[in-house]
Amino acid sequence: MPPSVLRYLIGRDPGCAIPIADDSISRRHAQIALDGAQIRVEDVGSSNGTFLIRQGQSRKLDKEEIVFSTDTLQFGSVQLTVKELLDNLKPPPAPSAAPKASMIRCACGMVKTQGEKCPGCGQ
Ligand SMILES: [Zn+2]
Repeated sequence: MPPSVLRYLIGRDPGCAIPIADDSISRRHAQIALDGAQIRVEDVGSSNGTFLIRQGQSRKLDKEEIVFSTDTLQFGSVQLTVKELLDNLKPPPAPSAAPKASMIRCACGMVKTQGEKCPGCGQ
């Protein structure tokens, strides 16, 4: 699986990327995969099923399927548009961001970057 695919779990478990507190939702209900511009959704063994509602037609997902931001998904009895789902995604963990320079207060009272010269007193 290429590493560029981001996968997010949807479910009642608060640890899910998209937690939905509803009794009709399984703890791990469905998974959304972002693969570049492509969005795919699959049910991960939920009790009440995941449904794709497109152009007024609802059908149960039995495999991973490509969806569009205009589609609506139903998890148990909860309906969300794909766009709403994407809006609710927690941002993925930042890829090892450079450590921020720590600011300290110099003896002279100015705030300076640790390890650099103070703009106030030059120390
Ligand atoms: Zn100083």
